[in-house]
Amino acid sequence: MNTETRIVEPGQMEAPLAAIRFLLLPGRDLFARRAERLRHLAAGHPLEEYLTFLALLAEAQQTALDQFPAPPLPDPDEQSLCRSHGMPLLAARSWRRDPVWREGLAAILHQLQDAVLPAAARETVNGLLHAGKTAVEAANLVLSGDLQAVPPRELPFVAAALQVYWVRMASLLGEQPFGRLEEVGVCPVCGSHPNVGIVHGKGAEQGLRYLCCSLCASQWHMVRIKCSSCDSTRGIDYYIVEGSNGAAKAECCEDCGIYLKLLYLEKESEMEAMADDLATLGLDMLMAEKGKSRVGPNLFFHPGAV
Ligand SMILES: [Zn+2]
Ligand SMILES: [Zn+2]
Repeated sequence: MNTETRIVEPGQMEAPLAAIRFLLLPGRDLFARRAERLRHLAAGHPLEEYLTFLALLAEAQQTALDQFPAPPLPDPDEQSLCRSHGMPLLAARSWRRDPVWREGLAAILHQLQDAVLPAAARETVNGLLHAGKTAVEAANLVLSGDLQAVPPRELPFVAAALQVYWVRMASLLGEQPFGRLEEVGVCPVCGSHPNVGIVHGKGAEQGLRYLCCSLCASQWHMVRIKCSSCDSTRGIDYYIVEGSNGAAKAECCEDCGIYLKLLYLEKESEMEAMADDLATLGLDMLMAEKGKSRVGPNLFFHPGAV
């Protein structure tokens, strides 16, 4: 008889870690799904105009992803080096970005030229199409985490193109080259912080919490009721916006004052990490009033906008 006992992590009545898929890469239809969800959320929302614009942008991202050329990828030596050092293979801050990412940007901008856009967005599309250097500078700032310094009008387009490039690289590599990192709060693919966490509602991942990358949309497993910023398991509180259905909660750590927004798919199965994060900005405002900070950004929300 097997008498082995196992320490159950806080809040975790889960299968042993080895039986849990630790990494879920984004599907091929990521941006099409996001566009659909954004349209659904936009109707009657206080941010209707912006969410509708982002739906168009997500559709353009899907087109760009579908026709994206094969970019250079890390070779096997680099893969094993990163694995043995517990480093992200496609680190946002240090990966040698291939100029091909700008082909993705051009594809996005060309598609948006034919769309009905607000005047300011149209101007920015035309500006970025003709000024490659501007886009490169903005991309460097996005990837270094200095969103505040990115011109607000350029941020969504440049972030959209970087997402397509990273999603494409991750999809081509597949899950195999990526290992768990020592730092559980950052993306094992690109080292970015998560914009939200998702508690899955069905299938093998039912009830498990995954953190969602703000850049490459990969999801990685992390046990529940634990701060994704400082690892603390003490003093974790949950907040919801009064009158909401509780499908979005802020998991806040009283030790470090950082919170992670959680989306519960068992309450609303259609929720999508980027779209629903933006549609629940009210929760971020509530947390800001309490003096709490988000763990990771949403690349479509300029920090200077609040
Ligand atoms: Zn990532
Ligand atoms: Zn903490």
